Amino acid sequence: VYILAIESSCDDTSAAVLCNDEVLSNVIATQKIHEEYGGVIPELASRAHQQHIVPVVHQALAKANIDKKQLSAIAFTRGPGLLGSLLVGTSFAKSLSLALGVPLIEVNHMEAHILSHYIREEGVKKPEFPFLAMTISGGHTQIVLVKDYFQMEVLGETLDDAVGEAFDKSAKLLGLTYPGGPLIDRFGQKGNPKAFPFPKPRVDGLNFSFSGLKTSILYFVQRETAKNPDFVQENLNDICASIQFTITEILMDKLKKAVKQTKIKQIAIGGGVSANSGIRKALARAEEVMGWTTFIPQFEYCTDNAAMIGIVGYYKFLQEDFTDPSVTALARYKLGTS
Ligand code: ATP
Ligand code: FE
Repeated sequence: VYILAIESSCDDTSAAVLCNDEVLSNVIATQKIHEEYGGVIPELASRAHQQHIVPVVHQALAKANIDKKQLSAIAFTRGPGLLGSLLVGTSFAKSLSLALGVPLIEVNHMEAHILSHYIREEGVKKPEFPFLAMTISGGHTQIVLVKDYFQMEVLGETLDDAVGEAFDKSAKLLGLTYPGGPLIDRFGQKGNPKAFPFPKPRVDGLNFSFSGLKTSILYFVQRETAKNPDFVQENLNDICASIQFTITEILMDKLKKAVKQTKIKQIAIGGGVSANSGIRKALARAEEVMGWTTFIPQFEYCTDNAAMIGIVGYYKFLQEDFTDPSVTALARYKLGTS
């Protein structure tokens, strides 16, 4: 089975070709334009998708050495994401499936972040059902009970900002460029994580909240720079380490609670924030101390990519779960409703 997959939910245009559960190519065009604005501008994102989509698909096919006539189906991200961005990928996928006369397969982006763990990789163990997935990205923060490929239950999620947003907005307050998450990680590795204690939010159950953290960092920076205008520059490593430490603790506290509740000790994480070194270290420690088994996909499959759309496409293809060509993109698309 050869699947061409297309992802255009946010600011990256991506196309991948899979042969069954194996990735033959995974091409990603990132949009540099948003750095200037300190965040993704939806209008500019859709335009850039328009420019990138055809070359990116061509590249993916060429790299995989597959002719479009060999394709078995076209999989695409239906949502959630920015509507204008989703429309580009959706329309392209619909047209191509019609032109080639092959089935169309819609994919939920968040489901794909979770199922990216099933992309075949030499010598890498896969999580077994049931397991817990924690998706930590720029737009989402969820703990999901995964009972089967397409049986997922959201146990908890953020009530306000996503964890990636918490990183990026904190970074902006420190004058760092967008996206600031990786910079906080880089500077934080050289700092003391206990230098500045920030409060952790009190949220019931397995839900998260990150907007309070951002506010307390804002007040903290304002207070300290009033006393010393160079405070941030002089203490950047320690501030970053402290922010990263607090965010990691918030995530780990909820994960521990979820493990206690479900008695499931297999934890798979995904989403761009899973690149974070502090979070990775905390998970490695939890393996040793609490006997968890943790799974982290390759970085290429953590951030937005079409390969993860393709793996979902493959499993849906096996079930002949095809999509009608009258399908429309969904900016909001709840997990477990596809
Ligand atoms: P969604 O999947 O919810 O639609 P998204 O696709 O925009 O969101 P991703 O591409 O998965 O999000 O992740 C991007 C986020 O990951 C950004 O907020 C970025 O700052 C963050 N990020 C990437 N690397 C790191 C890191 N090392 N430490 C902290 N955050 C990081
Ligand atoms: Fe994503």
